[in-house]
Amino acid sequence: MITYPFEYKRASSVAEAVSMLAEGGKALSGGHSLIPSMKLRLNMPDALVDVGRIPELKGISMDGDELVIGAGSTHADIADSQLVKEKLSLFAEGAAHIGDPAVRSRGTIGGSLAHADPSADWPALVLAANATIVVTGPNGERSIPSTDFFTGLFSTALNDDELITKIRVPVSAGSKSTYQKFAQPASRYALVGCAIVKQADGQVSVAFSGVSDAPFRDTDVEKNLNSGQEAGPVGKGQSIMSDNFASEKYRVHLASVYLQRALEAVA
Ligand SMILES: Cc1cc2nc3c(=O)[nH]c(=O)nc-3n(C[C@H](O)[C@H](O)[C@H](O)COP(=O)(O)OP(=O)(O)OC[C@H]3O[C@@H](n4cnc5c(N)ncnc54)[C@H](O)[C@@H]3O)c2cc1C
Repeated sequence: MITYPFEYKRASSVAEAVSMLAEGGKALSGGHSLIPSMKLRLNMPDALVDVGRIPELKGISMDGDELVIGAGSTHADIADSQLVKEKLSLFAEGAAHIGDPAVRSRGTIGGSLAHADPSADWPALVLAANATIVVTGPNGERSIPSTDFFTGLFSTALNDDELITKIRVPVSAGSKSTYQKFAQPASRYALVGCAIVKQADGQVSVAFSGVSDAPFRDTDVEKNLNSGQEAGPVGKGQSIMSDNFASEKYRVHLASVYLQRALEAVA
């Protein structure tokens, strides 16, 4: 399907991208979500600001006890990073679950978080890991805790003129983590994705993708598990999705099964 005419601009720095976004348009990173949605006319920006070649958005490093991932890192960069494997294997494991090799080599963590598809994998991973999303806009930089970032179906706390620049993730010694995903067989998106981080003292954080119309930390399940009880029902108070692939009832059932698998993996 051919898209409509639009303006294309390429930014060479974060500052340039922010000033271009202030004139209107949308950031283009790997293009693996934005371009398909433009072809379907679900998204019709007048201009695209290509942020795919900005050096400041690349790179993965440690800063004290935080792993810092540039928003322009591709899923493959993260899946293959030795540093990520050593410091936060959850992210390498999760990134390796995304789509297929073509998607992983173009799609970026920043693009995925900004797009906020309810079935995407990164949202559950950043939520369980207590990550912070760092963004830059006309008024400078701000840091958004991942628990405040996802505000609903395909919506986030990001303003139109802001760019995600990096993701900061605390790394703690002795923690264990896992991502357990039931993938839709054609797209590989999560019908259910459950991410768990278990700290050395046994306290867990539990997040889900694919279950509700927005990714979420299951604070009821966390409270139960962290006080030594059974997990209890998953997704209490959430707006559970239902579609051709999985009914509401089936999704909740799958979520419980994948939660148990995740708990066994970190036991
Ligand atoms: C066949 C296929 C299978 C897929 N399977 C999966 C899967 O299994 N799991 C999964 O999680 N995802 C999957 N995806 C989605 C894929 O991971 C996308 O690459 C990702 O969601 C978007 O990243 P992108 O870099 O391509 O962003 P783009 O498509 O370039 O942009 C997406 C949105 O993010 C905004 N944006 C991009 N970068 C930034 C930034 N730095 N700051 C602010 N806003 C920004 C854009 O303006 C746009 O609104 C799949 C996609 C395809 C085509």
